[in-house]
Amino acid sequence: MRTFEKSTKLDNVCYDIRGPVMDEANRMIAAGESIVKLNIGNPAPFGFRAPEAVLKMMAENLPNTEGYSDSKGIWEARKAIVDYCQSKHMPNVTENDVYTGNGVSELITLSMQGLLNNGDEILVPAPDYPLWTASVTLAGGTAVHYICDEQSEWYPDIEDMKSKITDKTKGIVVINPNNPTGALYPKEILEQIAELAREHELILFADEIYDRLVLDGLEHISLAGLAPDLLTVSFNGLSKSHLIAGYRCGWMCLCGDKSKAKGYIEGINLLSSMRLCSNVPAQSLIPAALEHLESTKELLAPGGRIYEQREYIYDAVNEIPGLTAVKPKAAFYMFPKIDTKKFEIYDDEKFVLDFLKEKKILFTHGGGFHWEQPDHFRIVYLPYVEDLRKAMGALKDFLKDYRQLR
Ligand code: PLP
Repeated sequence: MRTFEKSTKLDNVCYDIRGPVMDEANRMIAAGESIVKLNIGNPAPFGFRAPEAVLKMMAENLPNTEGYSDSKGIWEARKAIVDYCQSKHMPNVTENDVYTGNGVSELITLSMQGLLNNGDEILVPAPDYPLWTASVTLAGGTAVHYICDEQSEWYPDIEDMKSKITDKTKGIVVINPNNPTGALYPKEILEQIAELAREHELILFADEIYDRLVLDGLEHISLAGLAPDLLTVSFNGLSKSHLIAGYRCGWMCLCGDKSKAKGYIEGINLLSSMRLCSNVPAQSLIPAALEHLESTKELLAPGGRIYEQREYIYDAVNEIPGLTAVKPKAAFYMFPKIDTKKFEIYDDEKFVLDFLKEKKILFTHGGGFHWEQPDHFRIVYLPYVEDLRKAMGALKDFLKDYRQLR
C-alpha cells in the first residue's frame, strides 16, 4: 500500500507545542480529566474579553468583508498600522510596506521562506519563541542561538551574539518584549544590536507583539527607530494586546532602508499573494483596536489583572525553596530557574511531565524554548490569582520530595 511520510525538511524542526507532555495532556483531557493550562499565551480561556469597541467594529464590518482583500491587506488597516508605526518612531514605513497576516505566526514563516537559502544562518535568541527557530529551519536555514543572560535581566548577551556572526549570517531576531522571559530591553542594548547589524550588513527581525503589554510605567522602544539606515522587518499584532488570539490578526512592516532588499521584497510579495490575503474581518478591526488602547492599559496598571497576577506569581515562585525567577517587566510569562542539584533534575521535560501527571497542571519545559540546560520552565500567568495560588501550592507540595531517578 502507498504511504505518505512527512517531509524530511521537518526532521530538524523542534516546536514546543508538541511532544510527550502535550500527548499526555491530550490523553488526560480525552479521559475526562481537567487540567490547568499554564503553558500557552492564550488570554480568552482565562476570562479576558476583547474590548467592546473592537468587537463592535468587526461586527459592523462583517457584511463588507466577504471577499478577498489586496494581498497585503485592506487600505484602512494598513493606514492605521502606518500611523501606529509613526507613533513609535519607526522610519520609512508606508502602506506599501505593511503586510497583514493570519497572526504574526504566518508572517514569521513567510519572512524566512522569502529570504533563506540552504545553509544561511539567522541569529535567534535562547531562550526563544520556538516558532522562530522552526521557521528558520523549515526555510532551509540554520538557527544559531545567542544567549540571553538571566544575571542581566535576561538581556541579550552582546558578546555572545558577536561571537556567533559568520559570513553566512543573514539576520538577527530580537524578541522584545520577550517570550518566554518577560524581559523588556533598554535602549543601550538595542543600540548595540543595531550596531552589530550595521557592521555586518544584517537584516533585523524585530518581534514586538508584546509592545503594548509593558508593566511598571516602562516604555517600549522599537528597534527599527534606532536603525533607520538598516532594513528592519518588524512584527506586531492583536492576539495579546487585544486578547483576540483566535481572530488571527497580525502584521509585518518593512522599515528603514529597503534599497538593498529589492529581491527579498519581491519574494515577500510573491509569498504574500500566494496565500491570497489574511482574514479580512479580522483586518477590519485594526483601526479601532489601535485607537482603543485604554482597556489594555487598565490591565497593566496596579489593580489591573495582569499587574496583580505578575505581582503574585513573582513572589509565590521566589518563596518556593529551590526556585528563583527574574521579575517580568512585560507580557505575561515568567521563566523560573530550578535548582537542579537540589531536586536532582537532569531532564526538564520529565519534570514538567511528572508534575502534569501528579498535579494536573501544565507548564512548558525550558528545552521547548531551545534552552539547553534542564534548569528552567515557563509559567504563563494569565489565570486569576486564586487559580495561580492553587497552582503554586501544588508546585510547592510537588517539589517537597521530588527527585529524578536516573
Ligand atoms: N511572537 C511571539 C513572541 C509570540 O509569543 C507569539 C505567540 O505566542 C507570536 C509571535 C505569534 O502570535 P500570533 O500568531 O497569535 O500573532
